[in-house]
Amino acid sequence: MRVGVIGGGLMGMALARRYAADGHEVTVIEYAEQIGGLATWSTFENFNWDRFYHVILPSDQNLIGFLKELDMEDELEWHRTYTGFYVDEKLHSISSNIEFLKFPLLSLFSKIRLGFTMLYASRIAAWKPLESVTCEEWLRKISGNENVEKLWKPLLLAKLGPSYKRVSAVFIWSYIKRMFSARDKSASAEHLGHVRGGYESIFRKIESHINASGGRVLLKETVMRVSCDETGVSVHTPQRKLVFDEVVCTSPTNVLENIVDDELLDVGQTERQAQGRSRGLVEYLGVVCVVLVTRKPLTHYYVVNIADETIPFTGLIGMSNVVDVKNTDGYHLTYLPRYLLSTDPEIEKPDSYFKETFLDGVKRMFPEFPMQDIVSTHVHRAIKVQPLQVLDYSSMVPSVSTNDPRLHVLNTSQFVNSTLNNNEVIGAVDRFYNETYDVRSAYDVI
Ligand SMILES: Cc1cc2nc3c(=O)[nH]c(=O)nc-3n(C[C@H](O)[C@H](O)[C@H](O)COP(=O)(O)OP(=O)(O)OC[C@H]3O[C@@H](n4cnc5c(N)ncnc54)[C@H](O)[C@@H]3O)c2cc1C
Repeated sequence: MRVGVIGGGLMGMALARRYAADGHEVTVIEYAEQIGGLATWSTFENFNWDRFYHVILPSDQNLIGFLKELDMEDELEWHRTYTGFYVDEKLHSISSNIEFLKFPLLSLFSKIRLGFTMLYASRIAAWKPLESVTCEEWLRKISGNENVEKLWKPLLLAKLGPSYKRVSAVFIWSYIKRMFSARDKSASAEHLGHVRGGYESIFRKIESHINASGGRVLLKETVMRVSCDETGVSVHTPQRKLVFDEVVCTSPTNVLENIVDDELLDVGQTERQAQGRSRGLVEYLGVVCVVLVTRKPLTHYYVVNIADETIPFTGLIGMSNVVDVKNTDGYHLTYLPRYLLSTDPEIEKPDSYFKETFLDGVKRMFPEFPMQDIVSTHVHRAIKVQPLQVLDYSSMVPSVSTNDPRLHVLNTSQFVNSTLNNNEVIGAVDRFYNETYDVRSAYDVI
């Protein structure tokens, strides 16, 4: 079968590999000049590393299984990591239960309630009712006002910006569940991992598998339109028209809505009718991420949550506390993200604006850090990163099947009860492939 996969991010590449491994003639069509999408890499000084910060959790079993399939299991490295919290111009460590109990910001009663919230959330299985209540309302009820004002609100602002007010409790429930799973149960300590060589090495391996099976990856080709007729599914790019027996579109939903005719899509039909809108129900957050390459580490924390609205970035990721500096030519990498609604004009401000304001924030947070140890500063941005899980979000997303059985949709907006992460991406690819082609597991066959 001739298969076209639109988008060369992890979803598209992992899916293309499955088709290729089963003997199909697969073509990936990617608009950027290199594969990887949000998980792609950049050049910093003389080395390449992930453009945006990426780590693997011990509980990411789909992803770890996928790495085994790629024969990359031995490339995985794990590190004990530490978490900080910046508030009132001070950095606090909250990396263990003892430290958390000493955390001065909250009363003992609130800390107990917070512990209860984590435990309670991690045990909820029926997520659907959480879609009809905002995360703030839900957290006030479960965690109490003090925790909301001093801890949750700053964290939600950091993750979602002011749009957090419209987001449902599913967001925070799935976030807690994932974070809870990063803790080693016996030691109550967090461990995070990465693959040697970063995501670049994973993508190179996937691409080599696709090529070895006779597939191909086309770069710098933007899909402008997809149409279906008796000859097959046609994918139109400025360079050519490609005809396939089946096509899977993995690009964000706004792109999907622009390239595929309305009558082929079943994008939240009920909700669209109710709102009298034909498209654009799924809103995305974007991210601006400044990356510092330094001679010395800025901090020993992997993540510092920032509860201070005067600091322009909303978190601090000390990547070299997970990735040994032998991977990064002896340099330390620190990522400073700021999440904004993808339609916020601030996201388009020039690099110089972000460099200046973010470096000023670094100086205020780390007055002792010698600024001459910053070797270079890089500004990266992505516009369509994370769909905003507003109330009743699951009624707004495109379904996997379309009104033509040869055209499928598989993208991260369909993650209605989980956070955006690559473990979910691999899980979605496997589920889609096995269900669409009725692939049985080895146990079913026996
Ligand atoms: C700042 C940040 C930190 C993250 N941290 C982690 C982490 O620690 N752990 C983790 O597991 N995950 C993390 N993620 C999430 C992870 O990056 C995503 O889960 C993953 O990259 C999604 O892959 P995708 O293929 O679904 O989407 P994308 O990567 O967005 O791929 C879609 C592709 O479609 C292409 N495309 C779009 N339009 C067209 C068109 N018209 N024609 C052709 N091609 C087109 C795009 O160029 C893109 O390559 C992070 C993401 C970000 C942004």
